Amino acid sequence: MRKKILLQTPTGMHDILPEEQKYYQKIFDIVSEIAKFYNFQRIETPILERTELFSTSIGLATDIVQKEMFSFRTKGGDSLTLRPEGTAPIARAFIQHGMQNLPQPVKLWYFGPFFRYEHPQAGRYRQFWQFGFEVLGAKNPVIDAQIVQIFFNIFQELKLKNVLVKVNSIGDKTCRPYYKKLLSHYLKYRIEELCENCRRRLKENPLRVLDCKEEKCQRVIHGAPQIIDHLCEECRAHFREFLEYLEELGLPYQLDTKLVRGLDYYTRTVFEFFEESEKGKEVGAIAGGGRYDNLIKMLGKQDVPGMGGAGGVERIISLIKEKAIKWPKEKKVEVFLAQLGNLAKRKSLVLIENFRKEGIPVFESLDRDSLKAQLRLADKFGVKYTLILGQKEVLEGTILLRDMVSGQQEIIKLDKILPEIKKRLKKS
Ligand code: AMP
Repeated sequence: MRKKILLQTPTGMHDILPEEQKYYQKIFDIVSEIAKFYNFQRIETPILERTELFSTSIGLATDIVQKEMFSFRTKGGDSLTLRPEGTAPIARAFIQHGMQNLPQPVKLWYFGPFFRYEHPQAGRYRQFWQFGFEVLGAKNPVIDAQIVQIFFNIFQELKLKNVLVKVNSIGDKTCRPYYKKLLSHYLKYRIEELCENCRRRLKENPLRVLDCKEEKCQRVIHGAPQIIDHLCEECRAHFREFLEYLEELGLPYQLDTKLVRGLDYYTRTVFEFFEESEKGKEVGAIAGGGRYDNLIKMLGKQDVPGMGGAGGVERIISLIKEKAIKWPKEKKVEVFLAQLGNLAKRKSLVLIENFRKEGIPVFESLDRDSLKAQLRLADKFGVKYTLILGQKEVLEGTILLRDMVSGQQEIIKLDKILPEIKKRLKKS
């Protein structure tokens, strides 16, 4: 029994096996290409941060901080936490490295693993990968629209055709406190109709009730006052301009007045991306983000606005698989090098390096001694050509070139084999 547990990944965590890597790689490639185009610089922060970084910025009353952090004490007595999200660490890095002295805005992107102690279910893991984009030092709503456009572009490139972005504004410190009071008042009268969790949320952060998916809470939420009707003048203008930019870009957005996103550091614009699942499987949001104009001030002294978002790699992959999205095939390996004997092994090692320098991929099985076994392998790989190098060939300075389709074999001078293979691959 103990052994069985020993041989399994921890709950909610998974290996990314070789056959899965192509999905991660593809998403990474698209994200990094798009980041380059929009002039974002890559940043990677440590997997661990001081616990207070998250409790201060994300908010003590949030699910992430209350229930979902992997926190522990080090031998030196520090409380550290496996990062549950990427924005707070980047804000920390911005302050720590004096990035306010760089030309503003500072545009950063990342791609890495994140950790939340959640109840594992479809699309919800305890270790998952996110990519994210952050713009620090810009407060104009044109940036909000550009961030949404960037995520949209990534999903287009990934061939997710039915993406929809939900947007809302949650105001700022001028208008949100009043709205919170109004909402609390409304919910208090209906407390009996709310679920257990929402009764707690009502005390700590009534906005979070709007996030609840329980049917009975949904009924209450339906009639609740909407923040959009209570924005201050500046927030209303910011949101209006943001929507105008989205219109200009022709992005398929939907106003969702119940979208609040749970974290304390958000101000004004919030957004979440969804993709229709053909099987009706609920994978949840594939990306989300928003503006965080107070975050840097919460952590340091400077008043630096920010805007960004993050995409969930596993959820995107599950949609790609479900929709059986195919990408153009990668370059196939067309050459197998078989060898016989120690002398041939030595020459083969060098020959493989020469192939690599020429950019021609080649399969081999250097640890095998039987020619039959190697030819079987070459057959399995489906290569066009197999090169056979034995003791006799090495001594004569030649190599056998076997066409795997016709079965014909030719003797080629060893120092001519590279140009010969190049020529043949070009022809085909
Ligand atoms: P969030 O900041 O929580 O909205 O996270 C951004 C994106 O990461 C979400 O839209 C999801 O696609 C993904 N994500 C968040 N939490 C998880 C999780 N526990 N497992 C897998 N993906 C997640």
